[in-house]
Amino acid sequence: MIDTAVERQVMESGVDEYGLRLVVLPPPVSAGIGVIQLRLGHTVFGEVRLSLCPVDRRAILVHVEVEEKHRRRGAGRVLVNAATKRGAKFDWSMLPIGRDPVTVAFWARVGAVGPASPHPCTHQVEAKVVPAESRWTKWW
Ligand SMILES: [Zn+2]
Repeated sequence: MIDTAVERQVMESGVDEYGLRLVVLPPPVSAGIGVIQLRLGHTVFGEVRLSLCPVDRRAILVHVEVEEKHRRRGAGRVLVNAATKRGAKFDWSMLPIGRDPVTVAFWARVGAVGPASPHPCTHQVEAKVVPAESRWTKWW
């Protein structure tokens, strides 16, 4: 469908109207939540939210969302692949998947990138990658 290699991912300035592109929206702060969108011009098919800490080499997959009408065509898998390639050899974890059957079925197909209980480093905690209020009560 699309080459997910980091070199093929573009910034906003590399977007054109004709091709399917993986567009990177860098995080506002280091180790904060960045976004990779799968887009055709300005139409967003879906996006993945992730946090990468280059110091501790920890990566957290925060969320994947694909527009309903674009589902079941591999967009979600492409987004997850694009995310993991940005954090190759990082220690990956994910936010809890929850019970939504669509989400559960998606991860069963694609395969989890790491344990579905995040272990953020101090930078990721500082950048509020993992919502503080639920950090202790729900996830551990
Ligand atoms: Zn860190």
